[in-house]
Amino acid sequence: MDVVERAYRQRTVASAQHSNWATNFMPAGETRAAGYHRPYPLAIAHGAGAHLTDVDGNDFWDLSGNYTSLVHGHAHPLIVEAATKAIRGGTGWPACNRDQAHLAELLVNRVTSVEQVRFTNSGSEAAMLAMNMARVVTGRPKILMARFGYHGSHEVFEHGSFGGQMSTPMSDHPYLFEYNNPADVEQLLADHGDHIAAVFLEPVMGSAGIVTATQEFMTRVQAAARKNGSLFVIDEVITFRLDEHGAQSKYDIDPDLTLFAKTIGGGFPVGAVGGKHVHMAVLDPRSPRIFHSGTFNGNPVSMAAGRVSVEHLTDWRIAAMARLAERLESNLLDSAARHQVPFSVRRNGSLMNIYFTADLPAANLARADGSTMSLAHLSGLNHGLYFASRGMLVLSTVMTEDDIANISERFDAVMADVAHHLETTTA
Ligand code: PMP
Repeated sequence: MDVVERAYRQRTVASAQHSNWATNFMPAGETRAAGYHRPYPLAIAHGAGAHLTDVDGNDFWDLSGNYTSLVHGHAHPLIVEAATKAIRGGTGWPACNRDQAHLAELLVNRVTSVEQVRFTNSGSEAAMLAMNMARVVTGRPKILMARFGYHGSHEVFEHGSFGGQMSTPMSDHPYLFEYNNPADVEQLLADHGDHIAAVFLEPVMGSAGIVTATQEFMTRVQAAARKNGSLFVIDEVITFRLDEHGAQSKYDIDPDLTLFAKTIGGGFPVGAVGGKHVHMAVLDPRSPRIFHSGTFNGNPVSMAAGRVSVEHLTDWRIAAMARLAERLESNLLDSAARHQVPFSVRRNGSLMNIYFTADLPAANLARADGSTMSLAHLSGLNHGLYFASRGMLVLSTVMTEDDIANISERFDAVMADVAHHLETTTA
């Protein structure tokens, strides 16, 4: 066992005990695949602002924000107030609540392509609903998505997220294209267009490693989808934090449907599909073509918290986060150079992904630095930095310049660990 893992085990005895106990009742003691890492994940006891505390009492800068959803950090006072008020009023009602319409109105006012909204309980559900809507609207069965793109945990989308490597037997696997390769999309639509209901696309591939779409790619994919009569679906689950009007506003596009989740729930479970009246009409219960229901759709707590979260996510806060992220990126590059560690970063606004190679891989699943990344991840935890095990780093609006300086110092210690690891493994 290397020094980094030994230090991790020494600092996280209660998490290890938790993991051993929980593994009796849950696969690997976990309940979401992305949160698992070796030798065992932390058990968290508390979150406050930009900090997490584990069950051993260790404190961490939270650079995950629950995988980008906590854009205002943990237990933000405005969100706690709105959610607490909602909880006191009863957490689930069998009919409409006013915050649903307020949040829908906010999304419609902010995102130009969105004329109406339907809420779900997660981004995965939103993607499933959009797939169903596209099938009903077009009368076609198939989906086109990016290899390594991510649209949640329905098996059709997971097939694409894992580059077609998942073992689920299925008859309706999606067609996969290479991200930022418009000719690939055009060719697939030319070959299989009659079957393709929708093209799903992230403006920035998030879990694949913060890979940003080019304008040319967006324009050509939209044009090819339109020409083929397929719906153009933009997944803003992660990217809505990049612009008040959504990342789609940075491109000259007008998608048919947009997926939301994470930040629009203020830290509570949520998802949504937004789109044009003409397509949203398939959900209209007065003449439904899809009977889409859900006990917790638009529940009063998620809606109240989400409304405050979105209202608080203003352009100036988004710009301030991006400036801090730029500072962090440059500090990390300096630190890596000082320690002579091969290193690169992909960043878009407050989202970034780090790599321990001089050249950027096409996507996370194609990276060659897996063992170095795992070591850096554990080292980060040892130095009080919580970030996703594949190197995604995310800021929140409650972080300050001093916080970034402190985080950067801790990363310098991570770089020292990585340099030592590289020396000893290549010697
Ligand atoms: N789409 C994207 C781009 C995502 O990043 C995610 C979650 N990481 C989802 C969809 C699924 O959202 P959820 O986890 O809420 O189901």
